[in-house]
Amino acid sequence: MVTIAERLDAAYDRIAHAAKKCGRDYNDITLIAVSKKKTLEDILAAFEHGHREFAESYVQEGVEKVHQLSEHKNIVWHFIGPIQSNKSKAIAEHFSWVQSIDREKIARRLNEQRPSNMKPLQVLIQVNIDEDPNKSGCLLDEVPALAALIENCKQLNLRGLMAIPAQSADFDTQLQSFKQLSACFDRLKDQYPQLDTLSMGMSGDMDAAIAAGSTMVRIGTAIFGEREQ
Ligand SMILES: *Cc1c(COP(=O)(O)O)cnc(C)c1O
Repeated sequence: MVTIAERLDAAYDRIAHAAKKCGRDYNDITLIAVSKKKTLEDILAAFEHGHREFAESYVQEGVEKVHQLSEHKNIVWHFIGPIQSNKSKAIAEHFSWVQSIDREKIARRLNEQRPSNMKPLQVLIQVNIDEDPNKSGCLLDEVPALAALIENCKQLNLRGLMAIPAQSADFDTQLQSFKQLSACFDRLKDQYPQLDTLSMGMSGDMDAAIAAGSTMVRIGTAIFGEREQ
């Protein structure tokens, strides 16, 4: 059996390989281990192997895990799931990063609900690049207004963009989607040069995402194995 530690090493190797292929420095790409629907033991296996950045997609499950692992102060928790406004407070109080802001109401609520004794939330705007009506994310042309609003929020620190493109097994199709997000990120950086995070790439498409300029890949299955539905 392949262990989580071995799969984590393989994921790091894959990032290094993809970076090398397009002449990028692999140190510029952060690996986030997506632990949704996985056990505390799984998370601890990755933690004990030295991994510190984890992401959750469901509020209740994520908050429980943050509490259960609270003795490990150096874990950095990312929230990457859809956000209902009645759940925003729990997210604001428990996570370091929120990658899935897609509308003004959620940005305003997270800003108001982030406790003043905590560091500002590190946030990304989620973009629905394929304009899939079943997916979260704002449209590409809604990004500037949402970014401007977040920039005015004291308890939010805008770091960049995130997207989950339509699934495809074809590298060039994946690359085309990621390039759209990458172009949007470059335009946004003209206005906000401090932006440093382009979160794109999952187990099935991280190589294309890295080729298109990703600085953060979110990997679940390739580290923890298939999830139960
Ligand atoms: C589940 C999930 C991932 C991880 O997907 P894998 O295909 O298991 O690597 C990444 N990002 C988001 C937003 C997710 O919901």
